Amino acid sequence: MAQEIRGSGGAPGVAIGVAYLHGVESSVEASHSDAVDVASARAAFVEARERVSARLLGLAERLRSEQRAEEAPIFEAQMLLATDPSLESEVFGRLDAGSPLPSAIADAVGSMRAVLESLDDPYLRERGADVGAVGTMLLRSLQGDERSLADLPAGVVLVAPDLTPAETVDLPAGRVAGFVTAYGGPTGHTAILARSLGIPAVVGAGAAALAIAAGTMLALDGEQALLLVDPDAAARERYRARQQELASARARQQALAGLPGATADGHPVALWANIGRPEEARLAREAGAEGVGLFRTEFLFLQRDRAPGEDEQYRAYREALEIMDGRPVVARTLDIGGDKPLPYLPQRPEANPFLGVRGLRFCMVHSDLFQTQLRALLRAAAHGDLWLMLPMVSTLADLAWGKAQIALAAEALAAAQVEHRATLPVGIMVETPAAAVAADLFAPEADFFSIGSNDLTQYTLAVDRGDGELARRYDAGDPAVWRLIERTIAAGQARGIPVGVCGDLGGNVEAALALAGLGISELSMAPAALLPVRERLRQVTLAEAQALGKARLA
Ligand code: PEP
Ligand code: MG
Repeated sequence: MAQEIRGSGGAPGVAIGVAYLHGVESSVEASHSDAVDVASARAAFVEARERVSARLLGLAERLRSEQRAEEAPIFEAQMLLATDPSLESEVFGRLDAGSPLPSAIADAVGSMRAVLESLDDPYLRERGADVGAVGTMLLRSLQGDERSLADLPAGVVLVAPDLTPAETVDLPAGRVAGFVTAYGGPTGHTAILARSLGIPAVVGAGAAALAIAAGTMLALDGEQALLLVDPDAAARERYRARQQELASARARQQALAGLPGATADGHPVALWANIGRPEEARLAREAGAEGVGLFRTEFLFLQRDRAPGEDEQYRAYREALEIMDGRPVVARTLDIGGDKPLPYLPQRPEANPFLGVRGLRFCMVHSDLFQTQLRALLRAAAHGDLWLMLPMVSTLADLAWGKAQIALAAEALAAAQVEHRATLPVGIMVETPAAAVAADLFAPEADFFSIGSNDLTQYTLAVDRGDGELARRYDAGDPAVWRLIERTIAAGQARGIPVGVCGDLGGNVEAALALAGLGISELSMAPAALLPVRERLRQVTLAEAQALGKARLA
């Protein structure tokens, strides 16, 4: 009987092949403790760091030259971690206290990683893995082991405790069938890279993955995060059939990428993409995005030690607009707080951060930061169709404050005679029950609504969206959530303003049809979801979608 192992996430696709172990028997350990003097150990650290940062930089440059620029920042960020003075001082401190170099590196990296992993924000928590990857590279380099995985035998499924992003990006896509890691989570860079490289993978499969013997037959389904060890002939056949199905679905869907979103009978539903970095707009375009419905601008502020300045932000917003080439780009202003703290702007401790100083409320406390962002956005708006969207709005006063701040930023630019655009659509995220219930009061004051179903679900059902143990209660399909959505759409339609959805619900194929049926004008989703949603939408009529929408309310 095949053994079934479930991972915590992965990269979609099906792989069948024999196990090829990497780092399982000989995972890098800080074991050898050559008694060298502190000065030579310091010098050895500096040399290893230089080799590692040169390799990371080389990878980033290679990716940029291969038109895979969107992956390059991962390695640039790791390079910054490797050369971070705090890592050096942590390592040197341990050397001074008598630790051998490998332990000093392992301990220093371990403690930096522990700090990141104790944070609430899942994104920052996963960045702990980047620190770990840098540590692994340093230790390997110290042992003279800079093995690349580029020469793997064809058709194997790689099994490893974890892969560093540098190893992942080196994997020969098309030749390696897929990979399995014992550690790592669904939003870690290893998984993100596997998705963008199109390598099927299961991550976070746990210790059971490390017990797999080399050469064992494996079958994995990355979408289900499922691994079969030693599948029988029937299971292999099933996985093979699924593999073919996926390949033909993808080819079929890609052929539709150039068509606008619409139902079978031609009712238009614009299909837009969610992005966190300007480069991701490229992926969005490849999948046929007709606009960007949510640019989570706070991602430009995370993973660094101070806020990006006005010019840096201006370039980032302008880049997204230029890639979208005249199509609308909805920039959400800073949504910090809740599960996304800023390390360099610590907030007072809050008992309930999601109910605390979050989104627009955070900007009210840090209005300088907000003004800088708004000036950068209004300057970028001169280069495309930029819309501004305010997060976490719960009262009309919130919206009025946001609009006054935008006017203030425009005045400052005008006074300084800086090129900008002062009038542009300003809308709100409808993600608090208050905004949805009072949508008819907000509609005359907003140029558009975009429903944030992720937060709307958490606040409506009073369930923390990030709490794994409550995951079953966090159900965006609950009729209470859908009734608020229906109400918001009705209020927007009565006033003639567009109403979109930019929460995860919009990228769920079946929910997308029902939302279209309720009269949503635009659905914004992860770029990867665009192809299947566009295809499915074209298979139903408006009347069918309407019936699906109605059924969600009961
Ligand atoms: C939402 O809340 O649905 C949303 C799109 O915003 P975020 O997930 O970034 O909070
Ligand atoms: Mg939200």
